[in-house]
Amino acid sequence: MSGGLAPEAARELVLAEVAPLGGEPVRLEDCLGRVTVAETRSPISLQPFDNSAMDGYALRAADTEGGRPRLRLVGESRAGHPAAVAVEEGEAIWISTGAMVPQGADAVAPVEETSEEDGHVLPSRPVRAGENIRRAGEDVEAEQVLLPAGQQLRAAAVAVLAAAGIAEIECAQRPKVAILGSGDELIPPGEPLAPGQIHDSNTYALSALVREAGAEVAQVDRLSDDADATRRTISAALNSELHQILAVKEPEFDAVRGVDVLIVAGGVSVGRHDHVKGALADLGVEERFWRVAMRPGGPTWFGVLRRDGGRPTLVFGLPGNPVSAMITFHLFARPALRALTGLDPDAGRTQATLATTYRKKPGKAHYLRCRLELTDRGRRAHLTRERQGSHVLTSMLGADALALIPADAEEIAAGEQVEVALLG
Ligand code: AMP
Ligand code: MG
Repeated sequence: MSGGLAPEAARELVLAEVAPLGGEPVRLEDCLGRVTVAETRSPISLQPFDNSAMDGYALRAADTEGGRPRLRLVGESRAGHPAAVAVEEGEAIWISTGAMVPQGADAVAPVEETSEEDGHVLPSRPVRAGENIRRAGEDVEAEQVLLPAGQQLRAAAVAVLAAAGIAEIECAQRPKVAILGSGDELIPPGEPLAPGQIHDSNTYALSALVREAGAEVAQVDRLSDDADATRRTISAALNSELHQILAVKEPEFDAVRGVDVLIVAGGVSVGRHDHVKGALADLGVEERFWRVAMRPGGPTWFGVLRRDGGRPTLVFGLPGNPVSAMITFHLFARPALRALTGLDPDAGRTQATLATTYRKKPGKAHYLRCRLELTDRGRRAHLTRERQGSHVLTSMLGADALALIPADAEEIAAGEQVEVALLG
């Protein structure tokens, strides 16, 4: 098979290896971006008590009907300090926004619609029963479900949990990921380049993508183009969590646990100095596929390291070309990281019309870097750069989606619909 596996089939092989990680308690201040593992119910009702929506006077609505009502002020209810007395007929109590509605009162007259004289309040109009009162449980009833399982926590969810008094929430463990960049030519940013050298961008790009996907970067390293060194460094990376765990000697940890995911970028092709696949085979990582019928990203490898009594490590060998590494991460590694935390593996797919005609040879699916424009006739996909080569890294800048040109297509005319995978 020259072209390789269809991208969808490759993705299915990846997802077939994913078993969601368990949960762990996370403090509210640390839970942004984490994923819930169980339904959360509110232990209290919100509002917890009837309270005033306005600064004004708590009173009995019936007392404001007819004539020129004049109600005796008998106390105050402040936020956090309920009134000590009840409101009887012909009486009122000064009340602040959010303060508890006193016994006997059934409405609040806003201060703007009253006047005060000689210890009395004079409402300028009749007030309806219930006016300006926020009822207990109006927002949430006690025991009501606040959040479902499998939900990524954003600011609004953090706010609702805090209001319900929940200080800690069970969240999916974050996948631990080791990232390796392969190639003698790679030099870290910040160091000058000798002839033939380039800056390592992949390990930085992949670390950022891993974090954007809500996972944890456990280790980043570089591999030289040497078979023994490649095997040693990959072995250490596969077990980096294991080493850390043994070093702290915590017997309650699952001792047979390496990283959840290893991503190696570069060195997985057929060149004389590509040693990654050989090293992975030597280390017992079982190949699931190599080569996908797609462009960019054809020479993508995927396999699994099983551990007796421990969690497996999913291993991605991504092509070294920077655009290919990022796109294959989006199509294969990100769905796995999402599924490990119980999220839907698809971060979002939709349809868009191509802004310009695209031609290609049939045989491989093409993934085009696009900026989406929202028009009155739906989404339109513009190529971020005319040149879409796998070395044109700036084509990723400003791209918010990948447009999928199917393998058998030869031409998609401007205005035709294509499927797009959202990058955000
Ligand atoms: P390889 O997959 O090792 O054959 O690499 C394919 C291309 O990607 C070559 O041009 C490499 O120089 C380049 N490349 C590999 N790794 C990186 C990296 N970490 N950062 C930037 N470019 C890379
Ligand atoms: Mg290389």
